[in-house]
Amino acid sequence: MLILIDQDGVLADFDRGFAHAWQAHTGKPALAATQRRHFHIGDDYPEEQRAQITALLQAPGFYRQLPLLPGAQAAIADLRGRGHDVWICTSDTGTQPQILLDKLDWISAHFGPDLRRRTIISSDKTLIHGDWLIDDRPDIQGLCRPSWRHLLYDQAYNRHLDTDRIDWSSTGYARLLTLIGDAST
Ligand SMILES: [Mg+2]
Repeated sequence: MLILIDQDGVLADFDRGFAHAWQAHTGKPALAATQRRHFHIGDDYPEEQRAQITALLQAPGFYRQLPLLPGAQAAIADLRGRGHDVWICTSDTGTQPQILLDKLDWISAHFGPDLRRRTIISSDKTLIHGDWLIDDRPDIQGLCRPSWRHLLYDQAYNRHLDTDRIDWSSTGYARLLTLIGDAST
């Protein structure tokens, strides 16, 4: 199987990284990850705080400092060990070029240069071929009818959708293997 895996909110713990940066810059705690209701984090905050949030997200090094989501490394290693082709598929926010370098550095640091080489940056994931796309974004649309099936990576802001969802916990990962038809071992 060709499995595309999103980076932020699936491999990288965006919420924990944001909470750290928000606390450091404002001295106040961020909204708890369990309280998130919108995919774009700025939409979970009052209008007057959104410019500050955008500045934090665009600051050099923000994406480089995101922690790993627990279980992500083991899951990727297991999928590859089972013979699946795993590629990372991440979006270009279209703002600071440095963000893309930070994201690629992050992949190299946590998953090695081989997976960094297998990283696709696209602002339209429907253009990318694959059997499966694991992504926390609830609505993925673009120019094409996608070849992949979307497996939603479970996050508080996508629980309004009643669809197949997975995560890197042992039960979430077992569900993933069942859904892709590889639960035999
Ligand atoms: Mg994401």
